[in-house]
Amino acid sequence: MNAYPKLFTPITVGPFTLPNRIVMGSMHTGLEGERAAVHRIAAFYAARARGGTPLVITGGYGPNRAGRMTPHPAYIGSRDDALVLKPIADAVHAEGGRILLQLLHSGRYGYHDGSVAPSPLKSPINKTVPRELTGAEIRQTIEDYAAAAAFACEAGFDGIEIMGSEGYLISQFLAPRTNKRSDEWGGDFANRVRFPSEVVARVRARIGRERLLMYRTTVLDLVEGGLTLDEIRAVAAAMEAAGADVLNTGIGWHEAQVPTITQAVPRGGFAWAAGLMKPAVRIPVIASNRINAPETAEAIIAAGDADMVSLARALLADEAFAAKAAKGDRAGINICIACNQACLDHYFTFKPATCLVNPRALREEEFPATPAATKKRIAVVGGGLAGMAAAASAAERGHAVTLFEAAGELGGQFNLAKRIPGKQEFAESVAYFAERLRRAGVAVKLGEKASVAGLATERFQHAVVASGIAPRKLDIPGADDPRVVSYVDLLAGRVEASARVAIIGGGGIGFDVALYLAERRSRSHLDAEAFAAHWGVDRANAALAKNGHAMPTDYKITMLKRSPGPFGRTLGKTTGWVHRAELARAGVRFVDGAAYTGIDARGLHIRRADGSAECIEADTIVVCAGQEPLRALASEALAAAGIGCTYVGGANFATELDAKRAIEEGMRAGSSL
Ligand code: NAP
Ligand code: SF4
Repeated sequence: MNAYPKLFTPITVGPFTLPNRIVMGSMHTGLEGERAAVHRIAAFYAARARGGTPLVITGGYGPNRAGRMTPHPAYIGSRDDALVLKPIADAVHAEGGRILLQLLHSGRYGYHDGSVAPSPLKSPINKTVPRELTGAEIRQTIEDYAAAAAFACEAGFDGIEIMGSEGYLISQFLAPRTNKRSDEWGGDFANRVRFPSEVVARVRARIGRERLLMYRTTVLDLVEGGLTLDEIRAVAAAMEAAGADVLNTGIGWHEAQVPTITQAVPRGGFAWAAGLMKPAVRIPVIASNRINAPETAEAIIAAGDADMVSLARALLADEAFAAKAAKGDRAGINICIACNQACLDHYFTFKPATCLVNPRALREEEFPATPAATKKRIAVVGGGLAGMAAAASAAERGHAVTLFEAAGELGGQFNLAKRIPGKQEFAESVAYFAERLRRAGVAVKLGEKASVAGLATERFQHAVVASGIAPRKLDIPGADDPRVVSYVDLLAGRVEASARVAIIGGGGIGFDVALYLAERRSRSHLDAEAFAAHWGVDRANAALAKNGHAMPTDYKITMLKRSPGPFGRTLGKTTGWVHRAELARAGVRFVDGAAYTGIDARGLHIRRADGSAECIEADTIVVCAGQEPLRALASEALAAAGIGCTYVGGANFATELDAKRAIEEGMRAGSSL
């Protein structure tokens, strides 16, 4: 029997019967507006269809110029605009899949001068004040949706998803927060729901019943002035009545102060919200957000919260997620760790998306899986993620690979990261790459340090040196005090922190250490109920209750850095705010512009830019001052022994090292040898 029987039960949505319940949810790739990138997008979606996902939804395209997200022309304003995208639909069809084009009008979220909205109210996450739409322009916008939908279907798409959630134009019409109109489009609920109802009805009329019409409806706004549960249900019923075949669901406006997709959110942590809306309609409902594993998807459907599941980042991480789940090959799935580092952080900094754990994503053509022309004996020195990625990629291409890891386990820095609250997912990546090593026949030697002489004796022809980093040490009076500890020893559990803690360094690891201490008592990352309580979400009413309350913690924490200015600027664009909010709630004190003058029995002494001195009283001083490369083997010595050498990850360059670069470098090395 299939390991996930509910997930792999066929379902009929609109005109189509699909073999399983997995939908690839819409996600911005950052390439929507680039005509030259159409084949890249086509290869990306086709790979997902080939990997067993029966229904794919594109990134969002505006139904007109005003509705585009960025200055790029990612909108369908004419038949030609749609025909350019035909290779995408054709590529998915060639793999036996179906594909919908998503129409997303950004409204006041548009990052350009021409943004429009029901009312001229600036969003807190955008600099531009939108222009208020006239009644005639609203009518025209509805027609633009219908025309764009018809053009997309002419270009071969199997239907349309209308984006009606997450704070975009349709949300802006629905919610009193952003709709202050006094005409037929604003005021009471009947007027506010008119715009999406007419959009759906007109699109339905234009594309006919042979095409699929999906509407992405809000099930939780998470902002003041958002919809009530009764209104959420009424919107869903209205969209069914207007002609939608299936309802996808969206959680939280982009300006919400509650995490909705980051690592802080437990797996499937918002499926309950779809379940609250579901009784209002008879058409199928799709749950979304943080569904990254087949067992999570199965549980959601089994619980009756939804009929199908939407996976977006999970399919960026593994194009064959569905096919592997169908075979019960859970260990073979590369799980999305919800880091956002290479997908949403890229998009919101105007770079094309890819994936930290799967650098091939959206660059499929750059990493062809071609066998090596000449088979070599390759040593990989270091079993962190960079080394594992290099070893797996090289062995899968036919090389004979041995991986040497001085520690007793694989995983390197990820073994520390997985101890941070909310970063448990990092354990998945270690397990996945270890499984790839096993399947590719890599000889893994744990607890063994490689030497040049040893590699020469064993006739290795090339060494990939992935020996990682060494934490930077402090060079100030008192740095050898026993109260000074490295983040490595703290996170590895070799030392315990006392109640008063000073953290030296305000980078990603300084934040991680502060979170590790501050949230030790919290279970909000593991359990949907605890998460909702922690972030002030009233589950019974699908509303936002009190938020931002203080978080109890056992530690009095001070974070310090030498440079002036705010903390957290180097954190991820879409995740940093969560960490900052958490530490503020835990009462962490932030001290910038600090010169460290010494450590003694009282604590850490600093001098500020204005010359004043202060002692930060602390019994534990955790050093998170960055890293130095750790090059286990020198390239000159390897060359003298006739062994080629490639440095990857931290061993290559420790400054601004992150897992994204480490894995990509490892994979590129393994793919090019
Ligand atoms: P980092 O981001 O480079 O931060 C190092 C910190 O140490 C800085 O705040 C720096 O601030 C301070 N520092 C540097 N040299 C120092 C010295 N000699 N003495 C005292 N302080 C010194 O490095 P990291 O925190 O170790 O993180 C490593 C990498 O992992 C980074 O790329 C980071 O982005 C990534 N990472 C990201 C996350 C995340 O986004 N959540 C989490 C973990 C790791 P001053 O120079 O101002 O003192
Ligand atoms: Fe998931 Fe991170 Fe990959 Fe984005 S970059 S798809 S969040 S693993």
